[in-house]
Amino acid sequence: MTFEDLGLSPKLLSAIADAGYTTPTPIQAGAIPHALAGRDVLGIAQTGTGKTASFTLPMIERLSRGRARARMPRSLILCPTRELADQVAENVKTYAKNHKLTMALLIGGVAFGPQKEILDRGADIVIATPGRMLDHSERGGLLLMGVEILVIDEADRMLDMGFIPDIERIVAMLPARRQTLFFSATMPNEIQRLVASFLNNPERVEVTRPAQTAETINQLLVRVPDSQPKTKRAALRAAINRDGVKNGIIFCNRKRDVDTVARSLQRHGFSAAPIHGDLDQSLRTKTLAQFKSGELRLLVASDVAARGLDIPAVSHVFNMDIPRNADDYVHRIGRTGRAGLSGESITIVTPEDRKALAAITKLVGREPDTLDLVGDRITPAAPAQTSSASEPAAPSATAGQAAPDADANADSGPAREPAAESSEARGEGRSRRRRGGRNRSGRDRDSAPSSETAPASKPEKASAKESAPASVETVRPDTAQPQRSSRPSRAEREPEDAAVGFGDHVPDFLLRPAF
Ligand code: AMP
Repeated sequence: MTFEDLGLSPKLLSAIADAGYTTPTPIQAGAIPHALAGRDVLGIAQTGTGKTASFTLPMIERLSRGRARARMPRSLILCPTRELADQVAENVKTYAKNHKLTMALLIGGVAFGPQKEILDRGADIVIATPGRMLDHSERGGLLLMGVEILVIDEADRMLDMGFIPDIERIVAMLPARRQTLFFSATMPNEIQRLVASFLNNPERVEVTRPAQTAETINQLLVRVPDSQPKTKRAALRAAINRDGVKNGIIFCNRKRDVDTVARSLQRHGFSAAPIHGDLDQSLRTKTLAQFKSGELRLLVASDVAARGLDIPAVSHVFNMDIPRNADDYVHRIGRTGRAGLSGESITIVTPEDRKALAAITKLVGREPDTLDLVGDRITPAAPAQTSSASEPAAPSATAGQAAPDADANADSGPAREPAAESSEARGEGRSRRRRGGRNRSGRDRDSAPSSETAPASKPEKASAKESAPASVETVRPDTAQPQRSSRPSRAEREPEDAAVGFGDHVPDFLLRPAF
């Protein structure tokens, strides 16, 4: 299968060739023909599968005919985080370089005015996080009745972050007659309900989950005898000092720990910086650029900030905390071992992590090799202790005599505070709705902390069996079962022939290429 076979135009094929792609990925091969034909698509795929091109390429193709009108975008891509939105925008720039299409990126944490100016001039494609998009819409700067194509990216992460009410509000403002491309890595009940409500007879395209494609990742566990932060930090330093660690992303479960761990590493002389949603957007962008360029060796991150980041060559992923849900483990370690390169993940496991580890082992279908922290070094686990990776025995008596910690006072609490942030996240999402959605505080709605927390409602856990093979599966969506859907179907809400747009006048400046 080649890109030519998918029915894309020469202009797009040339941009794809310039990007260095020769063969469509399975999600691209499965989704693009249907999307080009105007069908709704339900894509079940994670980042790293090439899913961004699977919706941006057909979108560009379909938008190449016609022009944008002031404040009335022709397509809308909703993403859960600013970083992901930014990355999608970069993809669009790459693929649309031979087209005269205009694009607006509406994300929080950056000035409102320039975004509004682009909308005022008319944007063919709007890429947005839900909060900032609603802010523009509520201030009258964005009219959604001209949207022909809607993309919802990483729907399960939207759910985790409490964005579903926002998404439902946005979709209710769109014309019934539109194409919807909907992507999610997992399909919990709530997401299935949205699929049944938002999509019209979609083609379902499912690709192999990273859990099955992680053969290039050497997965290791490092057992530590207790969950004291200083013990875990000693284990982390020992893990970083192992041979072969060129660079890495270090995951923590809580934002506060992201900062603490980054500071600790800096004090110990490592090149490290934090990335999470409480940080200023320009700082996040700068940190990411430094990491990508190799100037920064270690990126300390939270799940949400790191989700979907496209960083091609990461030698290591470190789990400072075992993730609270097994899907996040798959996402995290999927940051390494990409595009056929080999990588290694090192997960620090305390005796309290037994249950979480068992869930991970079940999902990925294998038991990672186990190591022990002994003094300030990591050694292979004693044979008697390796019987089950999902039941980590405490390391030997000498283990965990953590090396002196340069920042013994850096911690303000126990290593794990389960779920505290999740409920806050949920509360924030709901309170936004109670306020009628308007941002009275003046703060960006999708600025942290609301967008940067642990999952508020966990995605349905996919068992190893559920996530099994089927490299590409294309079936009609009879699987999408409405769950307590209170919303009318699109057809019920608006007639199929509803008028779209205000008129046909196209000002000259709209015909100028934006990039
Ligand atoms: P995504 O899943 O969209 O985040 O894409 C993951 C990475 O794969 C990005 O670096 C893309 O640029 C890259 N990519 C997407 N499609 C292809 C392809 N057909 N061939 C090679 N790389 C690709």
